[in-house]
Amino acid sequence: MSERSVRVSAATAVPPVAAPRPSDALAAPGATTTTETRAVTGTHVAPSPRPLGSVDRPTISFELFPPRNPQAAPRLWETVRALESVHPDFVSVTYGASGKTRETSRALVSRLLQETSLSPIAHLTCVGTSREEITTIVEEFLDEGVRSFLALRGDPPVGQDDWQAHPDGLATASELVGLLREIESRRCTASPAQAVRARVRPLSVAVAAFPRGNAATGGTRAQDVASLLAKQEAGADFAITQVFYDAEAYLGLVAEAREAGVVIPIIPGIIPATDPARLERVQALTGVPVPRALLETLASADDERERHRRGIRAGVDLINGILDGGAPGVHLYTFNTHGAALDLLEGADLDGRGRD
Ligand SMILES: Cc1cc2nc3c(=O)[nH]c(=O)nc-3n(C[C@H](O)[C@H](O)[C@H](O)COP(=O)(O)OP(=O)(O)OC[C@H]3O[C@@H](n4cnc5c(N)ncnc54)[C@H](O)[C@@H]3O)c2cc1C
Repeated sequence: MSERSVRVSAATAVPPVAAPRPSDALAAPGATTTTETRAVTGTHVAPSPRPLGSVDRPTISFELFPPRNPQAAPRLWETVRALESVHPDFVSVTYGASGKTRETSRALVSRLLQETSLSPIAHLTCVGTSREEITTIVEEFLDEGVRSFLALRGDPPVGQDDWQAHPDGLATASELVGLLREIESRRCTASPAQAVRARVRPLSVAVAAFPRGNAATGGTRAQDVASLLAKQEAGADFAITQVFYDAEAYLGLVAEAREAGVVIPIIPGIIPATDPARLERVQALTGVPVPRALLETLASADDERERHRRGIRAGVDLINGILDGGAPGVHLYTFNTHGAALDLLEGADLDGRGRD
């Protein structure tokens, strides 16, 4: 019996962490304190697997990044344990530009797989890497038991203006999707046992989508919809979007993508808008402008608690708008903290949207 199956069976005997009260996040500005109470302190008790068949709630997922240094690891693991309590459908783990975080990303994905109830998705990029190197990285992940990837082209490294593929590398995310499918197919052909395992746990490949076009590449929405269609044709299963701040940006992308023949689910990526400095940093990184009105609302708050409350309110309104418009779920950019992300979910009451 594997370590993982022992852990899962042990978890089934333990009742889940008490469900949060939906009113807390908005009513109590000290929301971080509220959510801290949900985190299991001391020895971790893995929550029971969620009875997925009985609740048709929207999907919940989170983005994490590998700790930047050993000192950052405890905070990340506190977040991981707290996020487990809401039974997310998956968590995705970023991959630094130029593969800078190759080892730390892999270590985090591996530990999430071995020691938690979470299903990790490993991000991959094509930056500065040959086809052969990417193949090795993918094989390593697959050997660890990772079955889900987010295939990205990636941005040029800092200091380099234009995107340039490695001379023996891949030029687009759709080529990476194709390579992932090719590697999996080769492994299944080489091993009948692997072919059976692949039937039980199929490879899942996600890709990026951009509600207003990818500002970082100067791409328009129409170009990015064309790119999304190419990713789907190469074998992508679903997409996760770049940050955006108005429901119309997401709903417009989905409408345009459907018109173009994109049928895969498009999951909205949401940033908890409670920290104006972070929003400005994300704007600098992605080129997605933060609405002035949102920044002013946050800036005019009397104190941190009120700023937090206003940011959560804005996020809940956004989530309600996209779910009402048909979004399948929400993917939250956590920045390796859980307070604001869990407060957003609590405010949006996703379980209340289930059909059971
Ligand atoms: C959810 C999410 C997670 C991310 N995680 C990471 C991460 O972990 N590490 C990291 O370094 N970066 C990450 N990024 C950033 C991402 O790598 C960059 O935004 C990158 O510029 C875009 O990559 P892509 O996968 O969309 O590339 P592609 O789809 O290959 O697109 C790149 C450019 O080529 C154009 N293009 C490609 N194919 C076509 C086509 N067939 N027709 C027309 N135009 C085409 C596109 O319009 C675009 O301008 C993430 C982005 C998102 C949205």
